[in-house]
Amino acid sequence: MPAIRLLPDQLISQIAAGEVVERPASALKELLENSLDAGSTDITVTLLNGGVKQLRVADNGTGVAKDDLALALTRHATSKIATLDDLEAVASLGFRGEALASIASVSRTQIISRYQDDHHAWRIESEGSAISAIEPAALGIGTIVEVHDLYFNTPARRKFLKTEGTEFGHCEEAFRRVALSRPDVAFMLQHNGRALARLNIADPQKRFGEILGAEFSAESFALDESAAGLRLWGMAAKPTFSRNARDTQYVYVNGRFVRDKLISHAIRQAYQDVLHHDRHPAFVLFLELDTSLVDVNVHPSKTEVRFRDGQAVHRFVFHALHKALATPTGASNLVTAS
Ligand code: ADP
Ligand code: MG
Repeated sequence: MPAIRLLPDQLISQIAAGEVVERPASALKELLENSLDAGSTDITVTLLNGGVKQLRVADNGTGVAKDDLALALTRHATSKIATLDDLEAVASLGFRGEALASIASVSRTQIISRYQDDHHAWRIESEGSAISAIEPAALGIGTIVEVHDLYFNTPARRKFLKTEGTEFGHCEEAFRRVALSRPDVAFMLQHNGRALARLNIADPQKRFGEILGAEFSAESFALDESAAGLRLWGMAAKPTFSRNARDTQYVYVNGRFVRDKLISHAIRQAYQDVLHHDRHPAFVLFLELDTSLVDVNVHPSKTEVRFRDGQAVHRFVFHALHKALATPTGASNLVTAS
């Protein structure tokens, strides 16, 4: 048996990239989260060839200081937490300090950033983690991260990429998830030179309608329920707007898009009496609770959470939605399952 040896840093990042950067859309999600964590109010996404050739996210957030640029690309380097207590109270979307390092290890990445107190911007480039010198650049306050040729140095990974259209579809979905959760931020999406979405700052209901369509808006009711430190708010469709796929189901926990079996089950149960079993409800729901009651550090992609008291969350979500569905606004046009 060969001797045990420590893996080179780049290889460690490439291994981590398997989980964090499964496909272009996962890289896009991480870049968007970074822009939001930096307090941006205007974010532009520009993609080429489904995000494989280029993923570019430009924001007007705080920016990265010159001395921090190389650190931003370094594994386990983050400005968001410093202690275990911070981790338990984490309010930012990122905290693992590995997304940019992972992305950079499997692409040609460039960051141009101007920190809020600086007179001009700085640029750093990396190719598979070989980092260039830092040079002056021109940019207003904010950051542009450009990721080119994803998986150029990991052919095995590249083989798993689907068609341009499919990868773009996943990117669009990642964009939608983020844009739904932050109506207080303006977003723009471009693909291969075509502008596909321009979302101005709006109230939540308007934003939901812009993304999910006028029919969803017309067929949905707003809800906002609170009890014992838990809050559930958002919009859910009346049973008349049921779908034959789970394509309009968005759940967020403390602002973070999640896939959670427990919450999905509670929602499903709330609709049980009013929806035929092969139909799927449509909703955008935000659960808010104290950060100490939920663990977000479950998986590198951060789309899973663990609740301290899952049963209480289940009961609360079920009752909040069940009650809303039973009131006149929610229940009008009820169709009986046949
Ligand atoms: P994390 O988000 O978990 O901290 P990342 O690898 O995604 O880790 O980013 C590393 C660091 O780079 C962040 O902690 C942040 O300080 C900085 N950073 C990344 N993107 C941006 C951005 N768009 N604006 C400002 N700072 C950024
Ligand atoms: Mg991040």
